[in-house]
Amino acid sequence: MKLVLLGPPGAGKGTQAKRLAARYHVPHLSTGDILRSEVKAGSELGRLVEDKMGAGKLIDDETISSVVAGRLAQSDTVNGFILDGYPRTVAQANTLEQRLGSDGLTAVIELSVDEAELFDRIQARATEAGSAGAQARKDDNTAIFRKRLQTFAIETKPLSEFYASRGLLIQIDGRASADEVAAHIADHLPKHG
Ligand code: ADP
Repeated sequence: MKLVLLGPPGAGKGTQAKRLAARYHVPHLSTGDILRSEVKAGSELGRLVEDKMGAGKLIDDETISSVVAGRLAQSDTVNGFILDGYPRTVAQANTLEQRLGSDGLTAVIELSVDEAELFDRIQARATEAGSAGAQARKDDNTAIFRKRLQTFAIETKPLSEFYASRGLLIQIDGRASADEVAAHIADHLPKHG
């Protein structure tokens, strides 16, 4: 089972990716999580990407593609993976396609949620983190969120067409509850990987 989750920030990709990973017994690869842990660890990569992430901008294709290539080379991906946050540009999608070759993706799931709802969700996410005593994500504030949405519209939205033209795209309404969204996704996928 080799899946890519597409959708704007706040659409619920991470939540659905975790469920899919548990269901198909494959790892959840979130580039955002990988990069945030590098920033936290203060690694060279972390220092390189920190400012761009904090500003809601994408890091460059080559850097992220080599991070993902390294992760996909690990043995736990033999039966597949759930990619969350990659690819995010057409260049990244081409790189992934070349890497996977004929043994390509099973499907690409796009979660769509309108902008007003996304703003509500991101505000709720920041408030929840605050009341749990955790630090909200640095990029979960209105100005940066607006920038992340804009980056998504320009850089990532064209991937819907890219994958639709390959017959891989499954579009799901992401406004429903997490359980309902999961059920809709399940309707389109095999019961077992
Ligand atoms: P979002 O909630 O916006 O989907 P993520 O947690 O997936 O956020 O990613 C956070 C940040 O990490 C992005 O805004 C970007 O700076 C960086 N990033 C993650 N994945 C990629 C990628 N594939 N290409 C470039 N930058 C990325």
